[in-house]
Amino acid sequence: MVEILGPKLETPVVERLTIIGCGLIGSSLLRVARRKNLASVLVAADAAKDVRDRVTELGLADEIHADLAAAARGADLVVLCVPVGANSMVAQEISAALSPGAIVSDVGSVKGAVVSAIAPHLPSGVHLIPAHPVAGTEQSGPDAGFATLFLNRWCILTPPAEVDAIALKKLSDFWSAAGSNVEIMSSQHHDLVLAITSHVPHLIAYNIVGTAADLEEVTQSEVIKFSAGGFRDFTRIAASDPTMWRDVFLNNKEAVLEILGRFTEDLSALQRMIRWGDGEGLFSLFTRTRNIRRSIIESGQEIAAPDFGRHKADPQ
Ligand code: NAP
Repeated sequence: MVEILGPKLETPVVERLTIIGCGLIGSSLLRVARRKNLASVLVAADAAKDVRDRVTELGLADEIHADLAAAARGADLVVLCVPVGANSMVAQEISAALSPGAIVSDVGSVKGAVVSAIAPHLPSGVHLIPAHPVAGTEQSGPDAGFATLFLNRWCILTPPAEVDAIALKKLSDFWSAAGSNVEIMSSQHHDLVLAITSHVPHLIAYNIVGTAADLEEVTQSEVIKFSAGGFRDFTRIAASDPTMWRDVFLNNKEAVLEILGRFTEDLSALQRMIRWGDGEGLFSLFTRTRNIRRSIIESGQEIAAPDFGRHKADPQ
């Protein structure tokens, strides 16, 4: 593990790191922060008592708080790792405790809505730099996290135009040291790119598994018994956290609807090809899509072996 993540930093990137929300993403950040010495002091906070108890049992943080303001007080970097819909409430709670010069960031899968949810509550002198680690699994909670989650994955930062350059460099260094490749783009562009690569695929998975569950002539037990690889892969995605994904769709409405429009048109074209026996058209599309899969594997974002369960490298 140490070899995979590389050596600990001699000097931490930040002095006091506060992670709010210790589920899959928050607990993974705590784990990699400890392994890589990303911060001198690790502070965690979560609304749920069972989560706080588990963070204590696993020894993931130096301090664990129920009071979010107490957790954020004196932090150099506060990372909100809660569902996107909870960001505004969390920002309000921590606002008065933030010190000038502190960086507030998040990990939400939607970026445009984050700025409007958080920015109005932050005092002046605090730097808001939204971020999205494009890494995850369908699991939730502190036991699901692992230190290598972000390794060789992209972390997209969507800083405002007037961002403080030193704060941006610090957050970028933080994610690089966690193992990520950092990319910077506007929040609008992020939301459109992620609508096609992540949000609409999740919607399709939720839809197809829902359709299978509603079929009257095919029983649920038959769906489970005869589930072929394709359907099984969809069920993995459709098992993703309902709160997180409800919030993603409510907060990235425009881009998701835009991509869904394109998707529906393309689906109609496919329907026509099947109706008219256009084998050449089908073959040509399936060849193009296979090449996209190959490019993803070549870029190191996926492995060629079937991995339906997405086995994690290290449970801690
Ligand atoms: P998770 O495992 O469900 O963890 C979220 C944690 O935040 C839970 O412990 C939750 O407690 C806590 N929480 C919720 N509301 C809170 C509040 N108001 N104050 C304090 N704690 C609160 O979720 P996750 O998968 O880590 O996702 C967190 C964020 O990461 C989301 O914004 C998501 O969009 C983003 N993200 C997720 C993935 C992924 O694959 N999962 C990938 C990239 C980014 P309760 O259990 O009591 O609700």
